[in-house]
Amino acid sequence: MFVSDALQSKIERLANQHYPCEYGGILTGLKTSIGWLLMDVEVPHAWQASPTQFTRQVGSLNSYLSQLYAISEGQLQYLGEWHSHPDGPTRYSQQDARSMAEISLEAGVKNVTPLLWIVRSGNTTSHQLYVWRQDKLHPLTHHE
Ligand SMILES: [Zn+2]
Repeated sequence: MFVSDALQSKIERLANQHYPCEYGGILTGLKTSIGWLLMDVEVPHAWQASPTQFTRQVGSLNSYLSQLYAISEGQLQYLGEWHSHPDGPTRYSQQDARSMAEISLEAGVKNVTPLLWIVRSGNTTSHQLYVWRQDKLHPLTHHE
C-alpha cells in the first residue's frame, strides 16, 4: 500500500469541505502483485449525504473510469471507495460492509478485492484503509 502525503491531504480537504456531512468518491491507481499504489481520488457529480450517510450516484464516474483504463492501457483502474465519517470513528459501519460486498460482486467493476478508505473529518482527522476480502473488511497498514 502506498499513499502520498498529497493524496492524503486532498482527501482531508474534500472531506472537510463537506463537514458535518459525509462525503466521498472512488479511489484509482495501480494494483500490482505486491500491493496497491493509490494515485488519485475522483468525486461523483451527484450524491446524497447526511452526517451519518453517503450514497454516490454512478453517473460520470463510469465514463471517467473507462477513459482512465483505456488511456493507461489497463494500468490505472478503479481500486475502491472512500468516504468521510464526520467526527469519527474510522471503523466501518454494517452498511459500509454491505456496500463493499455489493461492489465486489458488480460485474462492471472487475475488482473482487476493493479497498475502502474511511477518513475522519472535523477538527481531528485520521484515516483507516480496509480491503474487502473473503467476505470481510480487513484493516490495512501502509506496509501491505
Ligand atoms: Zn461509513
